[in-house]
Amino acid sequence: MVNIGVLALQGSFREHLHILSLLERVNPCEVKTVGDLEKISGLILPGGESTTIGKLLKDFDLTEPIIQRITTGMPVWGTCAGMILLAKEIVDEDYCHLELMDIAVRRNAYGSQLESFNTAMNIPQVSDKKIPLVFIRAPWVERVGANVQVMATLNNRIIAVQQQNMLATSFHPELTQDLSFHSYFVKMVIDKANSI
Ligand code: GLN
Repeated sequence: MVNIGVLALQGSFREHLHILSLLERVNPCEVKTVGDLEKISGLILPGGESTTIGKLLKDFDLTEPIIQRITTGMPVWGTCAGMILLAKEIVDEDYCHLELMDIAVRRNAYGSQLESFNTAMNIPQVSDKKIPLVFIRAPWVERVGANVQVMATLNNRIIAVQQQNMLATSFHPELTQDLSFHSYFVKMVIDKANSI
């Protein structure tokens, strides 16, 4: 079994925990404290409101310990707000949060809540079936560093990226019935655990 944590301060963490509970070999764990963080081998940063989650990370003294775990190799996956938390640059803003991934993201890039939408597409690296994609006030990625792999684009906008142990998606696999993205992340965590 691998312990996979979901940051449980705000946002869609219950939905991620539920999907993880459907997968074999995974023990889903809520992460709210440094003690919780020490027990896990991979971390999901859920969708929600990145400014709120960023502030709560500071209030709960989790920012530095999370940066420490990720820079020393722990796999992490940010969905939507989680992608914003990971980015080294937020376009048109003078702040960022964990500042780990070599990407520039634009918040609310698709417009307001009314412009939220669902679609589906093939992402061969993750699944041989079409994957349903849910976008809710989603960011997109405007620039990537040379060490960042683009996994998926939609209408020429980058919506899924990977940089070594870090994965980020503009959309919310936790709000669908599809397990493929979570399975992909679990494989990243298990491969990492086996390589140590
Ligand atoms: N718009 C939100 C933000 O900027 C992200 C939305 C989401 O996670 N669904 O933080």
